[in-house]
Amino acid sequence: MSYQIAIDGPAGAGKSTVARAVAKKLGYIYVDTGAMYRAMALYLLRLHISSADADRISEASRDAVINIAYENGVQQVFLNGENVTAYLRTEEVGNMASASSVNPDVRRKLVELQQDLAARENVVMDGRDIGTCVLPDADVKVYLTATPACRAKRRYDELTAKGERCDLDAIETDIRERDERDTNREFSPLRQADDAVLIDSSDLTIEQVIERILALCR
Ligand code: C5P
Repeated sequence: MSYQIAIDGPAGAGKSTVARAVAKKLGYIYVDTGAMYRAMALYLLRLHISSADADRISEASRDAVINIAYENGVQQVFLNGENVTAYLRTEEVGNMASASSVNPDVRRKLVELQQDLAARENVVMDGRDIGTCVLPDADVKVYLTATPACRAKRRYDELTAKGERCDLDAIETDIRERDERDTNREFSPLRQADDAVLIDSSDLTIEQVIERILALCR
């Protein structure tokens, strides 16, 4: 049996940084499920499909072939054969991912891909519904969160470091809207699994969060 670590939580809580580090420490693969939803969103944006058009999203999602592979341990996401990893971390793609991930056809397709991966490899998988829906029997489940203001500041720093111009208040508004959608959607909403350990990272360093998760695994 493969070993499964599920890390869920809202946008900007530090899931990917922490999950990547834990995976590296343990020699497991890190699966960023948000990147899969983002690849699907990129596909929809390129087709100029509106985030409100559920029928066209369902239909288009059937033709999107999304795969992941690893280059030097770093996850690469392929959309219909094209490596789209570099295009996924923009606010536009993130907002479309948040809107289109409410679609049950999109979710069904990506959840299947995630479950296939976790059956074959030891994984640290992060997302919104990993502990509750994708890997209900995961060995370790963590729900990682932080205050909206704190998460907005982190996203702001991340974007600014990449040279993108952005506005802190707008990012916080986006984060609150995304939380709202992720927690209130009908299919697999964001929530803490009953058997997940809650970690609030607002006043913790990344190293402290990583250490807590490694301690849970031990
Ligand atoms: O984590 P990230 O910001 O990359 O995720 C983009 C969007 O994809 C999220 O806002 C969320 O709506 C969606 N998502 C999801 N289920 C997951 C991972 C991401 O619905 N397991």
